[in-house]
Amino acid sequence: MNDETPAKPVRHLLGLSGGKDSSALAIYLRDRIPDMEYFFADTGAELPETLEYIDLLEDYLGKPIAKLNARRDFDYYLKLHNNYLPSPRQRWCTINLKLLPFENYVGDDDVISYIAIRADEPARAGYLSTKPNIKTCFPFKEDGLNKEDITHILEESGLGLPKYYSWRSRSGCYFCFFQRHEEWVGLQKNHPELYERAKEYEKSEDESGKIYTWNQAGTLDEIVSRAQLAPEKKKTMSRPKKLIDQLTDPDEDPDDACLICTL
Ligand code: SF4
Repeated sequence: MNDETPAKPVRHLLGLSGGKDSSALAIYLRDRIPDMEYFFADTGAELPETLEYIDLLEDYLGKPIAKLNARRDFDYYLKLHNNYLPSPRQRWCTINLKLLPFENYVGDDDVISYIAIRADEPARAGYLSTKPNIKTCFPFKEDGLNKEDITHILEESGLGLPKYYSWRSRSGCYFCFFQRHEEWVGLQKNHPELYERAKEYEKSEDESGKIYTWNQAGTLDEIVSRAQLAPEKKKTMSRPKKLIDQLTDPDEDPDDACLICTL
């Protein structure tokens, strides 16, 4: 760059997942940062409720939300990983379907990326870009906003919560392996066709005849059957307990769960 070339302005970017926290952050910052750019990395496996909510949010914000797509779809990357379904320890889906599309969208531009981690959450570090031209900013943490504040922001805007919150605790792919057992039941009930599609992915077999499943506890049908037979367990859906604490895999650090997909 020669001396006469004006420096490119820093871009302000806010990634929306269709979850409550990033949506509330977009509303919170709408008038504070007028040149904010919004984006949504669409995995191609999003819930219809998520896509609907992103449209509503776009209307509310009065600006387009850039829809980012991965270079290839989930099935392509699944084959690339020898049909091993992603899991909390092998989160190739997050990297290929969420993180890389974001980094490609940014390119070499200097960017401030606004992240919706709340003040009442423990520190989370998982799956944020580490590119040197991408700086992260945590307005809710800096301004001390907690879960109640986020709910208030969404209610006051008139948007409320995305509809999937009546049966599922987070945004993300319909087949996301982070779902609790009761949420698979919710998928079967609310989107039977998506549930069947998720089941089809479990049919891949290697030479030993092993069936790959979304959850270590068994196939989806086994998980759903057990959850339906355990009414006491199902009642936990309505307990006033942090939903993120109710993940299916007790070995996974819940605070590291799919940060980029679900905020
Ligand atoms: S929502 Fe779940 S399945 Fe989808 S990309 Fe994120 S971690 Fe992977």
